[in-house]
Amino acid sequence: MNDEAMKNVQRLGEEIQPDFAYSAEYDAYYYIDTGEWLDPKCSDISCRFCNVRPENMKEKRVDETKKERHD
Ligand SMILES: [Zn+2]
Repeated sequence: MNDEAMKNVQRLGEEIQPDFAYSAEYDAYYYIDTGEWLDPKCSDISCRFCNVRPENMKEKRVDETKKERHD
């Protein structure tokens, strides 16, 4: 990569704020704001990722919060 290309990459990195994140647990990307998945579940009914993947990433977080607050 030349210097000019490197500058462009750095500029892009400053301007674009990714609104999605990767979940290694479900091997999928989701929107941070809404918890919606970028990719639909695959058609493999035995898929170890999609089988346990919640409909919404935030549902899982809510569950975890409830667990922590349960005392
Ligand atoms: Zn799958």
